[in-house]
Amino acid sequence: MDTVRSVIAHSGLPLLEARMIVGHVLEVSRAWMIAHDSDAIPADGLLKIQAMFKRRLAGEPMAYILGQREFMGLVFKTTPSVLIPRPDTELLVETAIDLVQNRAVATVLDMGTGSGAIAVAIAHYCPQAKVMASDKSAEALAVARENARDLGVQVDFVESDWYEQIPSCKFYLIVSNPPYIHHADAHLAQGDLRFEPPQALTDFSDGLAALRVIIAGAGGFLLDGGWLWLEHGWDQAESVRELLMKSGFVKVESRKDLSGIERISGGQWLISE
Ligand code: GLN
Repeated sequence: MDTVRSVIAHSGLPLLEARMIVGHVLEVSRAWMIAHDSDAIPADGLLKIQAMFKRRLAGEPMAYILGQREFMGLVFKTTPSVLIPRPDTELLVETAIDLVQNRAVATVLDMGTGSGAIAVAIAHYCPQAKVMASDKSAEALAVARENARDLGVQVDFVESDWYEQIPSCKFYLIVSNPPYIHHADAHLAQGDLRFEPPQALTDFSDGLAALRVIIAGAGGFLLDGGWLWLEHGWDQAESVRELLMKSGFVKVESRKDLSGIERISGGQWLISE
């Protein structure tokens, strides 16, 4: 008999992943699976579970198989049209929240929003903020819109190649997790990255191309005293700080993620100086 226990044990996957798939298909909690481990799994559920096991064994990311990923304590819909939200990026959102939460009025722009994870999380944790999010991909924007709706927040979405279609307004904060992986980086052909949209991962160049465009244009869209914060690769902090300073940003600094890697850099835009 195909019991919860035997199906999980014979999946060929790590226990945690097998449990996540079974729990997802049967719509039951981990505690339920433990208490009911000798229950038989109904045939239709078993077919779905086995199809998902097969996809996972072929390397497909869990977030695409389950169609969701948790980020900042919120569950985001994830499809192959968008980058999978990563724990590393929570640092960028926490930094944004710190800047925005105590301001009565704050306008925020998230560029290259993908799943909408950054914009939606900021809007959720800073309900008074007015958040706009852009992406070049209409498919990504459809996913982001759905996430904003499902999580009950208001975000204005704009289809735009970086600044091209951004309305001429000024923001207090611009954030972005742009494609920053060098085109020749071996990681692009490994793990989850093989399944993610390449244009969300790499600039097909030296890894700094999108960061350069965002930094060079930011001044035209920032309020006096506004901020720009960017996620970047493990070895790009110094280059990004240099780009920020050359473009006229002050108070330029980088911050480390939980692994001790300088993961984000930012600076302030002062017109009066
Ligand atoms: N942090 C991701 C990775 O290295 C890349 C995301 C990005 O390019 N913005 O897997």
